[in-house]
Amino acid sequence: MAKNATPRFGLKAHQVFWNERGSIVCACCHIPYPGSDTWIWERWEEITPADMAEIDRQGGRVACEGCGKEPGRIVRLDPSERTKR
Ligand SMILES: [Zn+2]
Repeated sequence: MAKNATPRFGLKAHQVFWNERGSIVCACCHIPYPGSDTWIWERWEEITPADMAEIDRQGGRVACEGCGKEPGRIVRLDPSERTKR
């Protein structure tokens, strides 16, 4: 695994994407080019921090299939944050 992988296509390293089949890939791994046929065909979109928070709340886990990075840990809400709203 490349340790200092750089995001592809000008994406940001913290961005994570998924498609309609539930495949999760970070910006540094085998993400299709945004707007490409593959991107559109497989309905890729970015997992927003709000999505990640929701997944986390439901006990799910967000981890890149390529490198195993778990961006959910970065944006994961602090337990004290959850009860605020
Ligand atoms: Zn990755």
